[in-house]
Amino acid sequence: MKIQAAVTRSRGAEFTIEPLILDEPQREEVRVRIAAVGVCHTDIAMRDQVFPVPLPIVLGHEGAGYIDAVGEGVTDFVPGDAVLMSYRACGVCPSCSAHAPSYCHRFFPLNFGGARADGSTSLRCDTGSRDATVHSHFFGQSAFASHVIAHYSNVVKVADTAPLGILAPFGCGIQTGAGAVMNALHVRAGDSLAVFGTGSVGLSAVMAAKIVGATSIIAIDRSDSRLALAAELGATATINPTREDAVAQIQALTGTGVAYALDTTAVPSVITQAVSALAPRGTLGIIGASHPDETMTLNIIDVMTNGKQIRGIVEGDAEPALFLPTLIKLYEQGRFPVDKMIRHYAFSEINQAVRDSETGACVKAVLVMP
Ligand SMILES: [Zn+2]
Ligand SMILES: [Zn+2]
Repeated sequence: MKIQAAVTRSRGAEFTIEPLILDEPQREEVRVRIAAVGVCHTDIAMRDQVFPVPLPIVLGHEGAGYIDAVGEGVTDFVPGDAVLMSYRACGVCPSCSAHAPSYCHRFFPLNFGGARADGSTSLRCDTGSRDATVHSHFFGQSAFASHVIAHYSNVVKVADTAPLGILAPFGCGIQTGAGAVMNALHVRAGDSLAVFGTGSVGLSAVMAAKIVGATSIIAIDRSDSRLALAAELGATATINPTREDAVAQIQALTGTGVAYALDTTAVPSVITQAVSALAPRGTLGIIGASHPDETMTLNIIDVMTNGKQIRGIVEGDAEPALFLPTLIKLYEQGRFPVDKMIRHYAFSEINQAVRDSETGACVKAVLVMP
């Protein structure tokens, strides 16, 4: 069918909304009419080819919408179902078998390969003048588009009345921050947590820490307006490192350092600070994505003698079909007020939404389809 999609044609280029041709759903696939899609930092990083996804491609990986058609073998969805989409995993590798699909052994080809698992794309140009191939299936969806083809395992059903304009980013950024706290670090009542970087992922972590009853939630960011929002959403203390020494301030607030820290910045010097800010036996979760060649330095004796742990966390260790319904319930109960960080844009304003995300003018941009 003929669709509208925002295409990335070259490194760093503006998104261009173009008519494309989308395949009919194949076996085990569904077609989703997109209602809303979040803009995630990873979309911008892929536009800039920080990781070389094949071009041209349709990015977008926080899609929400309605099932429009189903392929053979799909029994769990019918046209009209409201759905969120999330990342893609193979379902059969050792990680997937151990209920850790965000560490799928095929995560990179399935989410960044620009094609289905069999190498085919679901998109092609509608015009004769350009090379017809357009890469698809970014995170199994390529949701900067009016319609997408996804594997049924990539899709989570929600209530027909669900506010998709709010829930769209739950499939990546929001489950990443909240899941890091709830699923990966298992922060509990009475614990202390420092969150370095309070964009939408960091703020989701702050909200999750409040929900689980952490009593010391310290937000660190260079933006005073972000820190004010962090305080409104549950941070018990805020630190602006342009004015204060973050590590000294965390030590002063906690006495011995924090039991848990999360880094959303992927800035090596910030990660080094986050390790220093841990209490003995503390754990740092790294959830920000860096350039593939980036490295960091560690004080070995500090890590060793204090029994500190450092671990990477992808997608908040979430199994979306299990975790997204929990987060949605928390939102409905008013305990997870993500709407406070979301700004809506029309799909046609995608380049403005991306610019506002880059400058920090908006915390979480969500594009709404006409
Ligand atoms: Zn797998
Ligand atoms: Zn993302």
